[in-house]
Amino acid sequence: MTDRSDSTGSATGARPRDLEHVQGAVLDGPDGPVTVEAPFQHADAPDPFERLWTPHRMVYVGGQDKPKDSSSSQCPFCAAPDREDEDALIVHRGEHAYVLMNLYPYNTGHLLVCPYRHVSDWTEASEGERVEIGRLTARAMEVVRAVCHPHGFNLGMNQGEVAGAGIAAHLHQHVVPRWTGDANFMPIIGRTKPVPQLLGDQRDVLAAAWDSAPTGLEADER
Ligand SMILES: [Zn+2]
Repeated sequence: MTDRSDSTGSATGARPRDLEHVQGAVLDGPDGPVTVEAPFQHADAPDPFERLWTPHRMVYVGGQDKPKDSSSSQCPFCAAPDREDEDALIVHRGEHAYVLMNLYPYNTGHLLVCPYRHVSDWTEASEGERVEIGRLTARAMEVVRAVCHPHGFNLGMNQGEVAGAGIAAHLHQHVVPRWTGDANFMPIIGRTKPVPQLLGDQRDVLAAAWDSAPTGLEADER
């Protein structure tokens, strides 16, 4: 989002530009003129800028997670299980597949279900992988429902880069919670998607709820 000149600002809590807040002052002191710092330079004072904190995008800006090729050695979904859960943003480990936070989420609670094996196509997945990816997908929905109370989900796999797969070489199922109104002007006009909770915090909550969240549709009825 590049246009920050919107004067309404009400949806984001921004205050209208007020020059008193952005200009300092020179006052008479006992030993001569004293320059008083502008209030907006203080940490808790309003200023004319809106900020959208998206620290998870730093890895995208830095580009260090972009695989150089489609080999297993370059694959973030092959590397993740060798790291600590908190570090790799892993929510749950199964026998053939595991669940992790998407580093580039479309929404809060956007999870990915991946087989441990470096296979790219659903037809290459073993029977055990297909069964467990399906089971983990359902459990991911239950856990996200219990924690985040979404109104719906998008589930799906992009097969091949042409179909939108960011890491086409390693199969992954998207579990994207949806809320009424989440596709508002921000992503459509501003091409900006606010995600209000940091990924590490989301992971902690979802991992803690994995074994305790209600099954079936119970979570939706609370
Ligand atoms: Zn892989």
